[in-house]
Amino acid sequence: MFATSDTIVAIATPPGPGAIGVVRLSGPDAQLVTRQLITHRGSLEPRRATLTRVVQAAPRESESRDGRNDAVRKDAGRDVEVARPIDQVVVTYFPAPGSYTGEDVVEVSAHGSPVVLTEIVKTAVGCGARLAERGEFTLRAFLNGRIDLPQAEAVVDLIEASTPLQARAAFDQLNGTITQAIGEIEAVLFDLIARLEASVDFPEEGYHFVTPAALGEALDDLVARTSTLVSGARRGRLLREGVQIAIVGRPNVGKSSLFNALVGASRAIVADQPGTTRDLVTETIDLDGLRATIVDTAGLCPSDDIVESEGVRRAERAARAGDVVLLVADRSESWRGGDEWVRALGGLDGRRGGASQHASGDRRVLAVANKSDLPSAWSSADLASVRELLGDSVDIIEVSAATGAGMGALRGRIAAVLDFEMRERPALTNVRHLELVERAGCAFRRARAAVGSSGAAISEEFVLADLQEARDAFGEVVGRRAPEDVLERIFSTFCIGK
Ligand code: GDP
Repeated sequence: MFATSDTIVAIATPPGPGAIGVVRLSGPDAQLVTRQLITHRGSLEPRRATLTRVVQAAPRESESRDGRNDAVRKDAGRDVEVARPIDQVVVTYFPAPGSYTGEDVVEVSAHGSPVVLTEIVKTAVGCGARLAERGEFTLRAFLNGRIDLPQAEAVVDLIEASTPLQARAAFDQLNGTITQAIGEIEAVLFDLIARLEASVDFPEEGYHFVTPAALGEALDDLVARTSTLVSGARRGRLLREGVQIAIVGRPNVGKSSLFNALVGASRAIVADQPGTTRDLVTETIDLDGLRATIVDTAGLCPSDDIVESEGVRRAERAARAGDVVLLVADRSESWRGGDEWVRALGGLDGRRGGASQHASGDRRVLAVANKSDLPSAWSSADLASVRELLGDSVDIIEVSAATGAGMGALRGRIAAVLDFEMRERPALTNVRHLELVERAGCAFRRARAAVGSSGAAISEEFVLADLQEARDAFGEVVGRRAPEDVLERIFSTFCIGK
């Protein structure tokens, strides 16, 4: 996967027909291969679009029936071949080292016909290029030092972003925000390591290049800086990975109407979602910048019917998997006890109080009292029992899925319970980065504890070992010391041609 001495080729645009399709070549022979493909003679001017034709070389005998469209090519006195035009194209040459990959790159923009693009790739392979592996262009950009690892990962995030906010966060990272944030921490860290190493190197002089007090202060600073990065990361992960919102409740309370109201009021995201439960109705929407998959579940009520019972089981599973659970009840009907809510939330023995336990956990619960356009049939005793069931921390939001009343407030509450604030864009969104930064944070805290407890007689070696661990973790984030299997894992998530 890590050979970079040859020239690679791939279609860079998505599969299927389009107005334009791009074939990209990268490597030492990118220009040479391209010049065998096109009718334009002479070298390609750097960064200038050249209108020309792509031709497919073919033996003269079989192709000479109609000479009008065929270009005759002579290759250094060798056999004369007739080249059959494939398409009219625009070719742009980006010389090394200032290209995307850092190598010679040529982009051939053709008509976006899969047949044409495949022909161009095949012809390029016939002329000496190799089919690119997944993510190989970006891998080369990384190996050639054009981008660091978080920037390479941001390329995928940007391509796959399904809300404008996701795209902006990915673009920030493409501009190096993660490396910058980590670079600021590393500046303090490297200085500290240098001082401690000097102290270890000159023990007989009794030199201490850093006093225990200054060391403690520097470690406090490092702990605080990593904590700030980590604390923004939960929101970052929500942003990158999206959330699942499960709608549960008895039949006829208006779950499907609520689903439609939420989807209708938002931009539905058309995205292929691997792993979504296909037998529940799902739709992915842009919820104030968050990619939210709304799951409408079957009505929760005990049933003897096998199919219905399976629907109920799936609804309960969806509720357990949801980041947010909307418990829907019909406010125009008298309160029926809500045992199905408890069951949906995993309190399968039906004991009251189950829901409130969950509300305080990772899963966030909102109670939706639907049909607010109709007179309320809930007495104050009913409301009290809803409260008792849910606990005080759970909001009850009145909406009318039919008229749309209260829907804005509901959307706002969903964002609020997720603690998702769209104004600030988090630096960390990727779980790989988060785990490594957390590892560094642990090492800093360990070092801080050692310094704190040993007073003046600190052992530089112990502190150094922790700081080296932190340095390695940061090195792995930015790719300075990323093991090959990590690189392979990252780049295998790319598409061919990226
Ligand atoms: P589900 O079985 O829980 O999915 O409920 P539906 O969405 O199918 O709705 C059941 C019935 O309640 C339908 O006749 C809806 O038109 C009606 N309904 C749903 N939401 C509202 C609402 O907010 N107000 C009124 N008046 N009727 C509603």
